[in-house]
Formats: sequence, C-alpha cells, structure tokens
Amino acid sequence: MDIAINNALIIDPKNKVHSKLNMGVHNGKIVEITQQKLFADEVIDGSDMVVSPGFIDAHMHEGDYDKASDSFQLGIFEGMLKMGVTTAIGGNCGSGPDNPCEYLDAADRLGLPINLALLAPHEQLRKKISAADKYLPVGIEDIHAMKELAEEWLHGGCIGISFGIRYIPGIDKRELHIVSEAAVKNRKIIAAHIRDDAAQVMASIDELMEVADCLHVPVQVSHIGSMGGYGQMDEALAIIDFNRSKGLDVSADCYPYTAFSTCIGETTYDDGFLERYRTAYEHIEIADGPYRGKRCTAELFKKLRVEAPNTITIGHVMKQSEVDKALIHPGILIGSDGFMVDGKGHPRAAGTFPRVLSEYVRKRKLLSLQEAISKMSWLTAERFGIARGELSIGCAADIVIFNAEEVEDRATFENPTCSPKGIEYVVLEGRIAVKNGRIIKRNLGRSIRK
Ligand SMILES: [Zn+2]
Repeated sequence: MDIAINNALIIDPKNKVHSKLNMGVHNGKIVEITQQKLFADEVIDGSDMVVSPGFIDAHMHEGDYDKASDSFQLGIFEGMLKMGVTTAIGGNCGSGPDNPCEYLDAADRLGLPINLALLAPHEQLRKKISAADKYLPVGIEDIHAMKELAEEWLHGGCIGISFGIRYIPGIDKRELHIVSEAAVKNRKIIAAHIRDDAAQVMASIDELMEVADCLHVPVQVSHIGSMGGYGQMDEALAIIDFNRSKGLDVSADCYPYTAFSTCIGETTYDDGFLERYRTAYEHIEIADGPYRGKRCTAELFKKLRVEAPNTITIGHVMKQSEVDKALIHPGILIGSDGFMVDGKGHPRAAGTFPRVLSEYVRKRKLLSLQEAISKMSWLTAERFGIARGELSIGCAADIVIFNAEEVEDRATFENPTCSPKGIEYVVLEGRIAVKNGRIIKRNLGRSIRK
C-alpha cells in the first residue's frame, strides 16, 4: 500500500458517505475504505481531519503556455493546488490558449500542479478568422470556419466551448448557435460569460438558455454572482430553475466574493457602468501597476482606461445577500474565476475553496460540509462529464485532507496569493503533492480530456 489515511472523517457526496473510516491508496487508485486500521509506506493520521474528493474548480483561467521555452506560468495552478483543487476547468469566458490541444499536450508532457480540462475558447476561434472588430458580427463563411475549428479542438479533447459574449458584443444569435453546434455531436458543454449583467442579466441568461433549448447541449452560466449580484439574483436563478424544470441541462457557477475583477479597458466599464451597478468610482480598486491598491477617482479612471487599458481592477460592487443566494442554491457549482498574472489578481484564485468551507460552512452555517464538498467536487465532475470527484474504490485517488475546524482563506485584495490555512494534504492520482500545507510536487497534474 502506498498511502494509508487512518481515522479520518471520509466525506464522499456521490456515495453519500460521511463516517470515520480508514482509506488505502495504491498505484494511483483508492483501493480500500475500511474500519480496520491500515498500514502503508506513508501513513497519515487523519484524526481531526476530513478526507474529501479533490476539489474541482468549475471555472478558472489557466496560466499561459510559452512555446519558445516550453513552459507554463504556474502561479495560478499552485494557488489552486494549495486550496485543495486537484482538477480545474480552464479556457473560460471565451479566452484561453490560442491552441488548446497543444496546451493539453504540453500539460501531459511537462506535468502541471493540478489536472486541467479545457473549454475551446471562442475568442481564439475569432482570432483565427482574423475578425478584428469585437463590436461587429462576422459573416456566415467565417462562422462556419470557426465551427470547423471548434470541432477540431473538441475532437482533440476540449470538454466544451466557452464564449465571452460580454467581451465580444458582436456575437449575434447566428454565430452563437452555429459555433455551438460543434458541441452537439458528443453533447459537450457550452459555457458563457453572458452578454450583460445587472438589469440586463435576465435577457442575457435567456439568450443562453435558447442555445440549450435548440441544440440540446448542457449550458453553463459563468460566475452568476458577478452577473446578477446587484439585486437580480432571485430572478436570475428562477430563469435557470424554470428551464431546468422544463428538462434543459442548465446550471451556473459562483465564487464566494462580493467583488469582481476585470481590466479597466473592458466593456464592463463602458459608459453607464456607475448607474448599472449603482456604484461610485471609489468602489473600483486598482490591482496592478503604479496605482496598485488605490481606489479610483473619476480622473484616475479615465486616465487608466485610455493609457493603460490592461490594468487589473477590483470592483467592490456586488451585494453579499445576492452572492449568498447563488452560492447556497443546490444546483450552483463553485468556480473561482481565478486568474493570476505575476502574482497579481483577485484573492479568489488562492482563497475560493477554503473560503466556502470557513465562511459558508463553519462560520455562517449556510451550507453543510457535505453540501459544500458536493458543490466543489462531485456535482462539478458530473456536470462536465469528467471521471473525478468521488471516493469510490477503484477510482483515481485525487484527494484533499483538511481540518474543518481550522480551514480558512488568507488571500486578500492586498495579498492575493497568500496560502490558506488548514489544507494539510493534497493527493493527485495517489501521489502526495501537498504535505502539511506545502507543495512538495508540482508536476503531478495532467490533461483531462473528453
Ligand atoms: Zn468571465
């Protein structure tokens, strides 16, 4: 036996397991779950610990792969691993690698800190047909060329297609539906950063629901907290539930923060954003560059939007009660929406999963431990059709071991990469990647293809 974890509370939402037991791992797989004490090369005392399926991030933004040096930007992946994430879904919001299959191949060749599944990013499809203006629709031949390329990427193992309709307003119904048709063959998922938020969120969700209705593919509304967290959440969730009741395979994900993050040059900040979010410049924080840590004024905002449009900002504009509604809804998955560029970004990249456990389970008691783990593992695996997220005998041993009384996010807006507390061990395919909260192996992850 390679690893034995004794006397731990084993929580496995798929099999509805919630008991103190002992677990044995050998050759990458879970081989035993028993009341008998186990012996192995590495024995972990699980007293006071929870053993859960490794967390699965339903929505993240992977680091870049540099072909010249044949290497990845690892920051985001290491942040994920330290949170207990063993698999993440990347390529979101329409943005991602310019060649996702090449990226997945590099992941298999070099190894990553976690396993990674990729969506085929629509923005890259548009780049391939040289569509220069994001505000303009493209012609039918170009749309078909994009669909063909999407089919190729899906054939190469991408688990679905992502759109960033918000960021490319020129996407019309024709483009959205025809490119999405590429996903019909193997019923792969369509995920989207929908067209608009706040007061327009309902119409924007409807637009995506229509794709599920017409094409009978699973559809995912990305980071719903930052789309409808301004007073529209009841209605936004009701639209998804209504469609689910009709039999459509639709869902959403959410991160446990009341601030979003995007670049200052994005369409999010087009004219009228103050009214839309019922906010003021002072709620927009600069997270990057010489003004890092400063709150905006009208002057600073206008200056950076023109002179440095790629400046990362944090918008402290969502309502806690609205984010809570999404996060505790039984059909909503946890997705960090994490990204990291040179250690800068939003704390969700290094805090999301421990934060759900500390804020929503332990402190505010809005979710049971079982419910939270389910939203962070099994439900997500099931949703994206990946063979992970469970602790059944014979399954890949992707496991997180944490102290439920101590687990806590420590990443902040000032220090967004700070490691969490209480995530003691992370195991990827039967090999220990995190031990006593520290990364000891950073190349155990591989591509997850479908
Ligand atoms: Zn997005």
